[in-house]
Amino acid sequence: MSVITAARIPRQPTNQQPTQVDLTELPEDTRQLIEHALEAARNAPDNDVYFDHMTTAITAAGIRQPRHGEIVRCGCTSCHCDVLYDVDDPDAWLYNDGAHEIPQCPGCADEHPGTNAE
Ligand SMILES: [Zn+2]
Ligand SMILES: [Zn+2]
Repeated sequence: MSVITAARIPRQPTNQQPTQVDLTELPEDTRQLIEHALEAARNAPDNDVYFDHMTTAITAAGIRQPRHGEIVRCGCTSCHCDVLYDVDDPDAWLYNDGAHEIPQCPGCADEHPGTNAE
């Protein structure tokens, strides 16, 4: 004979968070914290330090936990939108202008995707 217990309702911890955040809509101090964290991540000597800084930026931004723990700031040169998003978002786009790899957020990828320079 089994005892029927109330089904546990799974909590929905992170699904309500946005997958992208506009940096310009955040308070100034939050924005600076994120910019510093992203800068520090870029200059990190190893992966541990890199992901520490990424986590700081992700937490401060309130963005949904990215697939591989990395976010990036949209580098679109058409609109300078300053959106932060999951690097591995399948709707995002990355192109090469001949000198640099330029990450574009899903919105930019949809509206004006950059084309790779040959
Ligand atoms: Zn963008
Ligand atoms: Zn754009």
